[in-house]
This record gives sequence, C-alpha cells and structure tokens, in this order.
Amino acid sequence: MQEYGGNVKSQHERSLSSLSVTNEKQLGLVDKFGRRATDLRVSLTDRCNLRCLYCMPEEGLPVLPLSKILTDEEVVRLVRIGVNYLGITKVRFTGGEPLLRKGLETIVSECAQLRTTDGEKLDLALTTNGLGLSHRARALHDAGLKRVNISLDSSSREEYLELTRRDRFAHVMEGISAATAAGLSPAKINAVVIPGVNDDSSEKLLCLALNIGAELRFIEHMPIGPKGQWNKAEIITSPSLIERLQRSFKLEEFPKSMRGSSPASLWGVAAGTLGTQEYPAGTVGFISSVSQPFCAECDRTRLTAEGRIRSCLFNDDEYDLRALLRSGASDGEIASQWQEAMWNKPARHGINDDGFTQPDRTMSAIGG
Ligand code: SAM
Ligand code: SF4
Repeated sequence: MQEYGGNVKSQHERSLSSLSVTNEKQLGLVDKFGRRATDLRVSLTDRCNLRCLYCMPEEGLPVLPLSKILTDEEVVRLVRIGVNYLGITKVRFTGGEPLLRKGLETIVSECAQLRTTDGEKLDLALTTNGLGLSHRARALHDAGLKRVNISLDSSSREEYLELTRRDRFAHVMEGISAATAAGLSPAKINAVVIPGVNDDSSEKLLCLALNIGAELRFIEHMPIGPKGQWNKAEIITSPSLIERLQRSFKLEEFPKSMRGSSPASLWGVAAGTLGTQEYPAGTVGFISSVSQPFCAECDRTRLTAEGRIRSCLFNDDEYDLRALLRSGASDGEIASQWQEAMWNKPARHGINDDGFTQPDRTMSAIGG
C-alpha cells in the first residue's frame, strides 16, 4: 500500500483566492497558453487484473490503500463541480481497471443526470481491458454510458497472453460482443504495438476489428510504463505502421475536420481479403503521441483515483482535491484549485526533448 509521490500542491500551500469562481460555468478550465479543457479523464482505481508489458511490471505495482481512494460520492461531486463550474462536457472513466470498481454503474448513472453548460447530456465513456464487461455492458449502457474503448493488442490468444501476462483473450472478445449488443457501439479497440511481440500481426488485428464492427485505434508506445523499458529508437511509429498496413489494405486518410476532438488520425479501409479472410470496409485510427504530438490541441484534465488533478500525463505536478473535499471546502474553492492546476499545465509533454525524464507515476497509476 502506498501514497504516490509527485509534486503535490495542497490547499495549505496555495492561495485559493488567486483565481475565483465568481462567474459560474463561464470561466472554465484554461491554461496560460490559451487551451481550454473540456474532456475529463477520471481514474477510478490504480488496481488492475492484467499486467500489460508496456504498462506494468510483471509483479504489479504497490497500490493505494482504499481509504485514500475517492468514494463514489466524492467522484460524483468532483465531476459535478467540473461540469457545473468548469465547462467539462466529456467524461471518460479509466484506471487501472475501472471495471474493478463495484460502484461504476452508480457513478455512471449519477453523472448521466448532469447537464453541460449548453444543457446537453454529458458524453460518458469508459476505457477498459474488457474483463467482466460481458456481465456489465447492458447495465452500464442503461445507466447512461455512451461509448467504450476496449484494450486488445492482438487477435491471437498466445500473443495476448504474452502481452498481458494473462490468458484472458476469450473474455475480452466476449466483452466486446456484449458492448456492441448493448448499444455501446461502435466499440473502439485500443492497441499498442510492441516490436518483436505483436508488430507482425497488426494486419490480423485490423482484419478482426473490421469483422466485428469495432474501430481499431493504434496508440504509439509512450514512456510511461515500467522504468527503463522505453527506447524511442525502437518504437513502432504511426507512419511506419501505416506504411506497413498499406501493403495489405487500401487505406485513405479522412480530412482532419472528421476527427472531431479526437487526437487520432482517421483512415478509411476499403473492403477486401487478408489471406483467405474477407473483411468489410471500416475505419482505423492512429494516435501519434510521440511522433506527432498533439499537445497544442490538448483539451484534457485528469483526476487520479486519490483525487489529484494532473493536467498532463508527463508532468508530475498534481493538485490535491481530496484534501479539500475532506476538509469541508465549498464547490467554489475546489473549482478554484482545479483552475489553478489547469493554469499551470505545461505547454507540451517534452518526450522528444534532450534530457526528457519519465514521470514518476506509470499510466495505470495516473489513469490512461
Ligand atoms: N485498464 C484499462 C485498459 O487497459 O483499457 C484502462 C487503463 S489503461 C492505462 C488505458 C490505456 O492506456 C490502454 O488502452 C493502454 O493500452 C494504454 N497504455 C498503457 N500504457 C501505455 C504506454 N506505455 N504507451 C501507450 N499506451 C499505453
Ligand atoms: Fe491494466 Fe490497462 Fe495497464 Fe493493461 S493497460 S496493465 S489492462 S491498466
């Protein structure tokens, strides 16, 4: 059990009056470079039932004691403050593995009651490894969940086992089917490609995704997993993967205007055949956080499982909202602290800078 380190700012260190939330719903979350955050990532736990190579060491990581993790009510209150005071319009629940959170359906259903500044329903999404989703997809949909991203890095059971260190391929596939059947569609599949493990089977994964009507997103491997593992020279970049896939698939890039606020470059795939396997037309996306960073357009703010605002995955500065919550602070005081966290968001992640050092916390501990 542990407390995470990082550069934690608490209400004792910071002046809550430096930014005041007098104009409810209008000030929003802005930083000194003019970006506005409307997309909130909420980590519901730092625990996980897989051990993906690029995310966690084999032995796992120390986890937070449950008393330090936000309760369901605290999560909902913070989301409400984000929506009512700060202009949040989208919320994605993540982790760790968010399906390990028993109260997930309750949290989703409470958040689904909230309305954005424009009176719209919140856009509620989930990123999950899909284990156990087959039993919960319907209830999550009925609670108000709109979309789901499921992590699946290979179409082969053996490679999946090698990548996640668990033999759960069939359970993820059941989860994807259940999500689609429940109306959480199109399900998106997140995949990280690791050289020497699943790079030679990326075509088969795309073929599988097209056949089950899911939208595959390839994410570049980022330096936020186990320490000492990432080597920039070895990662499979999106351009090299696109070049590879173009040898087997007819791909055509969609105009940037079709991406919405997603950082993924989107490509249409024409129907065809891979070996003897036919596949229908569909789309595939590439998230190029390393080779083509999208920091200038970043619209995210992150809430960790223990209630800290972290404005950038790669910056260890964190602002402690749990301490404020548990010391009886008002919604306005909490919103002010959140605004201060956003104001200090760094301009960019700096992965490509000389002297870049990996952040202290890994992806599962921050909330991916
Ligand atoms: N456990 C859930 C899951 O796997 O979908 C949610 C949390 S996981 C940290 C969120 C996403 O982060 C996953 O899609 C995973 O592939 C991605 N991820 C984890 N480590 C990564 C890394 N080092 N580079 C790029 N993506 C990573
Ligand atoms: Fe767990 Fe998700 Fe990290 Fe895999 S990527 S170890 S499923 S948190």
